Amino acid sequence: MAAATRPAYSLFIGGANVPGTKNETRTVPDPSTREPFATVAVGGADDARHALEVADKAFRESNWASDDGARRTKALFRLAGLVEADLEGFAQLETQNQGKTIRESRFDIGFVVRTLEYHAGLADKIEGETIPVPGGRFDYTSVEPLGVTVHIAPWNYPLLLAVRSIAPALAAGNAVILKPASLTPLSSLRFAQLAKSAGIPDGIFNVVVGSGSAVGEALVDDDRCRTVAFTGSGDVGRRIQEIAARRMIPTTLELGGKGPVVVLADADLDRAAKGIGWGIFGNAGQMCWAGSRLLVDESVRAPLLERLVALAQKLKVGPGSSPDAEMGPLVSPEQQESVLGFVTEAKDAGASIVTGGQRYTDGPLSQGNFLPPTIVDGVNATHRIVREEVFGPVLAVQSFRSVEEGISMANETQYGLLASVWTRDLATAHAVARRLESGMVVINDPPTTFPQTPFAGFRGSGLGSEQGRRALEFYTRRKNVMVNVGRLKGPAK
Ligand code: NAP
Ligand code: MG
Repeated sequence: MAAATRPAYSLFIGGANVPGTKNETRTVPDPSTREPFATVAVGGADDARHALEVADKAFRESNWASDDGARRTKALFRLAGLVEADLEGFAQLETQNQGKTIRESRFDIGFVVRTLEYHAGLADKIEGETIPVPGGRFDYTSVEPLGVTVHIAPWNYPLLLAVRSIAPALAAGNAVILKPASLTPLSSLRFAQLAKSAGIPDGIFNVVVGSGSAVGEALVDDDRCRTVAFTGSGDVGRRIQEIAARRMIPTTLELGGKGPVVVLADADLDRAAKGIGWGIFGNAGQMCWAGSRLLVDESVRAPLLERLVALAQKLKVGPGSSPDAEMGPLVSPEQQESVLGFVTEAKDAGASIVTGGQRYTDGPLSQGNFLPPTIVDGVNATHRIVREEVFGPVLAVQSFRSVEEGISMANETQYGLLASVWTRDLATAHAVARRLESGMVVINDPPTTFPQTPFAGFRGSGLGSEQGRRALEFYTRRKNVMVNVGRLKGPAK
């Protein structure tokens, strides 16, 4: 595409599109062709500080944080409606920028709409309480927004994961600054335009594009930032928590995973194979909650593997924009390299690549960041492919001889995000769920979530919880007010 016709995106600060202070821009490539299709402004630490100043002022002066929650309810419902009306435009942009299939992007944007609606419905239901106390006193609590909240998002579900934390922060009355991932900022910038049309006051929603080390750290390491919602890798999560600890501010960390999929001997193997396929090849495996470790009862290993291989080989890999594509490219050449590195290392260590495992060498797929669905057998807990997050369409297969052994293999990880169990025996399923060290467990289903259900990782997968009613509490603080009302003179009752 000729440079002159490429759409250009700016930062969004104080209700306006602005270039970065350094006037820097970069091109944005389509992961299925590696061809640039847009340009985007890139900000730095000065832009981060400018956004903090603007957001802090808007928080104090715009009345967004007032007790009129209905105002926020209406604005967020309007915003949901505007996104829904432009669902196809958002989906196409997300696919072009991130690579995922158009069907996946439509689903993601639908989830964004539902998340906004869910939190819109809560914005006018944020209530304190009265607490009976002795001695002629009256005690109550009031729930207040925090001020400026910072949201740092990853590239795998660009708008969905941004809105997941932005929606409750806005519903609670905060002023929001979003730093999208450098690879995928476009849908957030499109969203910002609608936030303004929906009536969210200028300065209450801001988007600063720029590197994590410059913009991200400048946003977190500043007195005006009152909390950080971070979704991304463990290393960056720890770095953010170190800065936050010095400043004594809370963070939510939604980090990586190494999801175990426990298949018991009595499972419905046809259903399980479909669910497992979705859980590792969906979004080209770039999912924190991917079911990347298959742990199957030895007695059904062969028939399950046969079904999975057939499914992997039938899956239509292609550009996300092609209507029949079932799996798109990886987000970047670096991600493609990194995933291949895991596979090569496992192979060198004696694992067998049952299907996939190599890049495409000719045809249109060789031009983009494509990899085929891959299944790796003959691995154990000493292999990096079993221990670390691959973040690609790669399933590692292990087997067990008893449910007990399956549970302990499932828990043998630094992570604890989502685990799956497949069995027809529901009593066993609940008992196993109870013993899995995971923030989320799915039984006889692929990884599934809704805006109203908590999304949380245990252990190395994170801290705090997004989604659901309680997410709102993270973006508020509770103040206790004690009043001495004295005693009424008169006859004692
Ligand atoms: P990442 O490298 O940690 O980046 C995430 C975000 O942090 C990006 O916006 C990045 O900016 C920013 N960042 C990088 N260094 C920073 C710093 N020093 N200070 C502040 N911000 C900084 O992760 P990713 O590669 O985008 O995403 C993949 C990871 O996210 C995987 O580990 C995956 O499991 C995890 N993830 C978790 C969940 C969940 O809900 N649990 C969901 C999705 C993804 P740049 O883009 O500019 O580097
Ligand atoms: Mg990164």
